[in-house]
Amino acid sequence: MVEEQDMKDYSGYKPNSVAIMKKFGVKLWYKIEILSSKGTVQGVVLPRNKFAPDGFVEIKLKNGYNIGVPLDKNTKIKVIGEVPPMKVSFDQHIQPKNKNLPTVCLLGTGGTIASRLDYTTGAVIPAFEPGELFTAVPELAKISNIETEVVYQLLSENLTPQNWLELAKKIVELAKTNIDGIVIAHGTDTLSYASAALSFLLKNVSIPIVLVGSQRSSDRPSSDAALNLIHAVTIASKANIGEVVVCMMGSSAHDYGFIHRGTRVRKMHSSARHTFRSIGITPLGMIRDDEIKYFSTEIKPRDSKNRKKMECWSSIEEKVALIYSYPGMKGDILDFYLNSGYKGIVFAGSGLGHLPKTMYPALKRAYDAKIPILMTVQTLWGYTGMDVYESGRELQDLGVIPGKNMLPEVAFTKMCWALGNFNEYEKIREVLTTNIAGEITSGESMNGFQIFQGVEHTISPKE
Ligand code: ASP
Repeated sequence: MVEEQDMKDYSGYKPNSVAIMKKFGVKLWYKIEILSSKGTVQGVVLPRNKFAPDGFVEIKLKNGYNIGVPLDKNTKIKVIGEVPPMKVSFDQHIQPKNKNLPTVCLLGTGGTIASRLDYTTGAVIPAFEPGELFTAVPELAKISNIETEVVYQLLSENLTPQNWLELAKKIVELAKTNIDGIVIAHGTDTLSYASAALSFLLKNVSIPIVLVGSQRSSDRPSSDAALNLIHAVTIASKANIGEVVVCMMGSSAHDYGFIHRGTRVRKMHSSARHTFRSIGITPLGMIRDDEIKYFSTEIKPRDSKNRKKMECWSSIEEKVALIYSYPGMKGDILDFYLNSGYKGIVFAGSGLGHLPKTMYPALKRAYDAKIPILMTVQTLWGYTGMDVYESGRELQDLGVIPGKNMLPEVAFTKMCWALGNFNEYEKIREVLTTNIAGEITSGESMNGFQIFQGVEHTISPKE
């Protein structure tokens, strides 16, 4: 039976870990230096979540990361001091409400940020409840009162447009309560689809709706979950923003986060933690520690007193396809979608927005059936230019709609939203080509794309 004192001193730790911690006189909230097979590290001993495996001590490093350090017979621990314990538990509403702090609602949808590593299989599985995340990141309690709710527990590749609509409805419901901002913990793979979809689905956004993810699960060494969450909750609490934004690590040194507009952001690296980049625009701002700097003068400001006026569109169409064009592509691919009842198609075309001529008969079929076909560019940077070459002009004659500089996945979510809420082909065409939520910009910086070639080292956070 676990003694009551042990519950307090070793909350969440299992027998082998407790034995080794006791051997070195270590308890929760002690500052320790630990020598393990991974080298020597210093940090503060944190409570462990109930799912965490035995044989590790979880410590918070000076840079804010939580790491699990393996404990074994070679481990040596030196106690350096003690810090005041933070009152945390795994339950929701873990702190009494602090009237002086803002209130933020943290919605969990799954993904790595809400995952832990399953040490038996090595797989990352969606398991944490937001309340547990809070336990792993006790700093959040100093930033705001946090309400948590698990909406989904899905890796983001499994989320659908219907899920985006449900999320939008949930946000509108929450906006009727006394909250200052909303954070959505989401898988990074399709995070920019969700941020774009919410930007279209929500009307009169007047508080920050911040999507955040992480590339490494929160119980792994080097997880980015803690810092990203701290940044996101800080933005939701106090940023002067009334838009859907994405907040993720900005630099490889993991010292600041960028704030990206929900319709102009993309995951640019499959594993790096500073993977999210604004495309075609500079980020809206950055956050370092708790200081927010704004780079853009075109941010919709917070208007908290009107948050109850937030609404959402009623419907979303799921029968939309996003097709990447490639040399040798034939019309049969489009025929397949038309025969399967798809209501709208987005192409990521080559160059200025081109498709091979072999597509023309199927495109004519789509046009005759009033199926909107929207063109975007594979290059990501730049605009469709469908008056330049013969093929661009021919495609327009076949009804292909130039999507300007909308990112392909953003155009996809816009098509889902437009088809769900408008009926007339002409109206749909009109909304698709009109800037609704910052997805189409009047210009792009000339050198932005060169950053990825190493020509420009970085965008200075001072810009
Ligand atoms: N597959 C995961 C997801 O998108 C990856 C992540 O969260 O980073 O849900």
